[in-house]
Amino acid sequence: MYPTIKDKRQIIMTPEESYDIIVIGAGPAGSTAALYAADLGASVLLIDKKKDIGTPIQCGGFLPCYEELEELLPGAQLPSTLEDIPSSCIYTSTRIHRFIAPNLDPKEFEVPANVLDRSRFDKHLARKAAGAGAELMIGTRADSIEGDVVSVRGVHGEFNIKAKVIIGADGPTSMAAKTAGLIDRSDDMGKAVALEYELAGVDIDREAVEMFFGRDYAPGGYAWIISQGGDTANIGVGIRQPLCEKGVSTQDYLHRFMYEHPRAAPMFKGARITAIISGIVPVGGAPPETVKGNIVICGDAAGQLIATNGGGIPTAMVGGKVAGETAAEVVSGKCKLSEYENRWRAQIGLEIKTSVYVKKLMDGLMRSDPMMSTAMKMINPEQMKALQRGRLPDPVKKMLKSLNAGLG
Ligand SMILES: Cc1cc2nc3c(=O)[nH]c(=O)nc-3n(C[C@H](O)[C@H](O)[C@H](O)COP(=O)(O)OP(=O)(O)OC[C@H]3O[C@@H](n4cnc5c(N)ncnc54)[C@H](O)[C@@H]3O)c2cc1C
Repeated sequence: MYPTIKDKRQIIMTPEESYDIIVIGAGPAGSTAALYAADLGASVLLIDKKKDIGTPIQCGGFLPCYEELEELLPGAQLPSTLEDIPSSCIYTSTRIHRFIAPNLDPKEFEVPANVLDRSRFDKHLARKAAGAGAELMIGTRADSIEGDVVSVRGVHGEFNIKAKVIIGADGPTSMAAKTAGLIDRSDDMGKAVALEYELAGVDIDREAVEMFFGRDYAPGGYAWIISQGGDTANIGVGIRQPLCEKGVSTQDYLHRFMYEHPRAAPMFKGARITAIISGIVPVGGAPPETVKGNIVICGDAAGQLIATNGGGIPTAMVGGKVAGETAAEVVSGKCKLSEYENRWRAQIGLEIKTSVYVKKLMDGLMRSDPMMSTAMKMINPEQMKALQRGRLPDPVKKMLKSLNAGLG
């Protein structure tokens, strides 16, 4: 509905009483779902609790180029918005992916990639959804779902809005997924805690994205440096609490990396922090079910993420596209909502599942720095690239298993 000013405290719009589809969350998954559902003619309401879509960001912005994504997710129908990314949403491009073992040995392979300005990219995607006809309600939190009614509250006021299908694209702590009883994130090994700083005044390799391993800096995960162009970068750590030293916080690990890592710290001398970013990365894989009644979940809400590297932008968008298209078909009587489950798993299910398996094998090795260094020495760059993509070449599987067995 067109914006109306009902009350000076309620600023912008009054929603309709009901929609075909309500999408909760205007991140990459939700905006993509809304875009594709609206394109197919469904009436769509896209809601986000943020007052400014994309802000604050919770991401490093690393996104392999379209051709790489086609190889990374060979079964996926990639959304067009992964191909046509406006240059205003891209900080810089990188060419190399470099891994640094705990013993500081580097290994690298080519991965042409863009580093996104996620705030701009998220807003761009939301604008695309709005352009396709979706209504957008920002500054509005979805508090609860009961049957076909979503209760929302925010800058526009409080409303109970009906929908035939509800898409939960509300991130790793998804209310929609919890309401439908679809996720149980009580397992701390299934979620990584990530903290990153945006820095100005760094002296880094701008061509490369670097990932550093080692228990002292990133237990159960890795530390990273991602160039944002010029002398700016985002550096961060993704760790898992059960593998951390007692009394050492995520920030302590990031500070160790920034100030003490023998190879990384010299690059940050004199750097200044321009932003602090944190969030949860659901690395435990997808739950057994992602559809219940009239609710489907996608993106981080559904664990649609490559566990080995924590990259979730492309998989969230693929999941969102499938959710939006399926929901629109359900509304026009062409299929059942349960189709969503088969469709998204056929496109990206294998990569997500394998990446979780690889991550579990790596978890064993990550408990020992010498073992991790040995493994990284034995794996050649091509195999490493495969692992990074969540694949597991047979020789590597054998080797990782025997190293793990050696650890007892
Ligand atoms: C620190 C960090 C760094 C990362 N770096 C990378 C990277 O470099 N590359 C990469 O590919 N991935 C990265 N990821 C992962 C990536 O950010 C996510 O996988 C991706 O954002 C998932 O998209 P999404 O749309 O599912 O969820 P989100 O992007 O989390 O979007 C969910 C949206 O839902 C909204 N929302 C939540 N609850 C409600 C509610 N109740 N009502 C209304 N709105 C709600 C939120 O405001 C948010 O806008 C990183 C993650 C973190 C935490």
